[in-house]
Amino acid sequence: MKPVAFDYERAASLSDAASLLARTGGFVKLLAGGQSLGPMLNLRLAQPDLLIDITSIPELTAIIDGGDHLEIGACVTHSDIEDGRVPDHFGGLLRQVAGRIAYRPVRNRGTVGGSLAHADPAADWISALSLIGADAVLWSQRGVRTVAVENLVVSSFTTALAADELIRGVRIPKLSPAARWGFFKFSQKAGEFAHTIGGVLHDPARGVFRAVLGAIETAPIVLADARPLFGGSAFDSGIANRIDREAIARLLDGKNVTDDYIRSLAPVALKRAAIQASAS
Ligand SMILES: Cc1cc2nc3c(=O)[nH]c(=O)nc-3n(C[C@H](O)[C@H](O)[C@H](O)COP(=O)(O)OP(=O)(O)OC[C@H]3O[C@@H](n4cnc5c(N)ncnc54)[C@H](O)[C@@H]3O)c2cc1C
Repeated sequence: MKPVAFDYERAASLSDAASLLARTGGFVKLLAGGQSLGPMLNLRLAQPDLLIDITSIPELTAIIDGGDHLEIGACVTHSDIEDGRVPDHFGGLLRQVAGRIAYRPVRNRGTVGGSLAHADPAADWISALSLIGADAVLWSQRGVRTVAVENLVVSSFTTALAADELIRGVRIPKLSPAARWGFFKFSQKAGEFAHTIGGVLHDPARGVFRAVLGAIETAPIVLADARPLFGGSAFDSGIANRIDREAIARLLDGKNVTDDYIRSLAPVALKRAAIQASAS
């Protein structure tokens, strides 16, 4: 199929984008890498009157060192991270995640902000950035606000973004040199969307022990205190042997995850992440 006819505007600045977004009388969509929006247009799942191309807005490709965090613009691509154009203050976690998204042409165009805004529950950044405790920086003519990535995605393909807001960037806390992490993406073929994701992060210097269960057909489950998943114990080298399957099942119940396949993969994904974290 072909998309419906739409107008196209390339915003040169954030205020340009805002005034275009505020244009009334039609359905407006932002265009970043187009890797999700393109197919949606072709299938007519999205039928906008106006597309606003945001890829030329300088703030959206900026990388700012904020001391204890790095702020990356929403239009930073997966390849930018994979190739090290984004400084790695994350012990290789973000580079691993980026390099396992789809295949190279998708990674060259697909952006972090587009991935978060699209909110496909199977996408990698939603889980990875929730694991690390990143904040999304949202921008509109009304001002700037930050929302934890784990709260930005409300459910499948649904975010807390207001109609006049865009994602300006993501603030990602830097990990200390002592940090250990594991991120396991279950997919049948390399580069496919995940069937389930497990993630574990331990950063003792910052008092962090977090976990994520993602790609569960809704927003990921994020534990700021991961101990209940491991029988209440603190992080150590034997953590993978203490996975509490019943605790995981209860968390999945709480999110109404009934798919047996996901329910059986979740503890395995978490265990593999825990093995990776404790062996690193
Ligand atoms: C074949 C294929 C395989 C893929 N495999 C994976 C995978 O394994 N893992 C994975 O995580 N992803 C995967 N993806 C998705 C890919 O990562 C996309 O890059 C991502 O989903 C969307 O990013 P984009 O920049 O292309 O956004 P677009 O397609 O341009 O936009 C997506 C949506 O976000 C909105 N949007 C874009 N930018 C912003 C912003 N700054 N603020 C507010 N709204 C915004 C758009 O209006 C649109 O609604 C795959 C895609 C394809 C085509």
